[in-house]
Amino acid sequence: MSHRVTLIPGDGIGPEVTQAAQIVAEATGVSIDWEVVEAGEPAIRASGTPLPPAVLDSIRRNRVALKGPITTPIGSGFRSVNVALRTELDLFASVRPARAIAGEGTRYPETDLIVVREATEGLYSGVEHWVDKEHSAAETVNVITRRASDRIVKFAFELARREHRRKVTAVHKANIMKTTGALFQTAFREMAAKYPDVPSDERLIDNMCMQLVKKPSEYDVIVTTNLMGDILSDLCAGLAGGLGVAPGAVYGERIALFEPVHGSAPKYAGQDKADPVAEVLSLELMLRHLGEADAADRIWRAVWEVVSEKRVVTYDLALPGYTERPVPPSSCSAMAKEIARKIPLVDTTSPAPRPSAPGVGIGGDTALETG
Ligand code: NAD
Repeated sequence: MSHRVTLIPGDGIGPEVTQAAQIVAEATGVSIDWEVVEAGEPAIRASGTPLPPAVLDSIRRNRVALKGPITTPIGSGFRSVNVALRTELDLFASVRPARAIAGEGTRYPETDLIVVREATEGLYSGVEHWVDKEHSAAETVNVITRRASDRIVKFAFELARREHRRKVTAVHKANIMKTTGALFQTAFREMAAKYPDVPSDERLIDNMCMQLVKKPSEYDVIVTTNLMGDILSDLCAGLAGGLGVAPGAVYGERIALFEPVHGSAPKYAGQDKADPVAEVLSLELMLRHLGEADAADRIWRAVWEVVSEKRVVTYDLALPGYTERPVPPSSCSAMAKEIARKIPLVDTTSPAPRPSAPGVGIGGDTALETG
């Protein structure tokens, strides 16, 4: 059976890393019928808008999308295409596994965290204005609703139970944000009481940042609001080896979109230099979602082998890092081809390398249960 999937190459390094993911996808033998649609800068050039209706139509039709990063102008200009996609399609659960790969590029080779971030409201709601004509003060509204808080914490507990994770930690700032923070905290505590089999605790965001840097192995699934989740997921990506290896997904009730944590890294655009792993592991999550567990396992193991051999790796993994073993950097496309070459060769019957291969296997219909 062929899977029809929307592919959004994006801009900056997006086209390079999504092409790398396509090379790897082809090597798995899974039949994917890619429907390519443009968003971001190529769409502005073609049609004058960064998010043409055809993109949303395609994702609604196919219900699964693989996406490259898209640039957002800083401080002015059009609204983020990424945020617009999540709100238009009600993709409420951003799931970002931070798994160290073969101990490369990290001080914490055991890192195996999952950040679950509410993705439709909070400080990303776009409700902001200047207070005066002189632009000497500004306000941004932090929109937190009980409905969105309930469904994201439920999503996190369901994920933890299904994936046999150790615990769920809620992160907030309820000591200072006594309405929005407290609302999220209450939603978490009431949901935790319904999942007595899943251990849970809470941390204030500032303490959590320190705790994660000191002893990340104390944590497992982390659930939080939009902006805190954005920041924490980059922090966790750093713990696991960097933005070049950090995949992600955003789930709605019926639609799932897979994209790396990283952005468009404009300074590397068009140089065939970016690490393809984050996009390739986003493909891995996508194949799990599509029920193609064997192909997903092969991708994880092939990535693991290529990274641990450290023979054909991009600049970020070629650095001496913490292993003191620098090698000449390879290109994005060379590393993708090396991962693809390994796919049929890996042994899927041997025990999975740590951290465990399952990642985040959330089926589309399972997501429905979270509503
Ligand atoms: P970024 O993630 O694009 O890059 C930060 C740094 O991380 C880069 O300079 C590079 O050193 C490294 N990096 C990122 N991806 C890498 C890869 N695949 N391989 C190797 N190194 C990599 O973050 P930024 O510079 O803050 O943002 C650039 C643009 O991307 C902005 O317009 C931002 O809004 C956008 N962005 C988009 C998304 C998305 O599409 N989901 C996510 C984050 C940022």
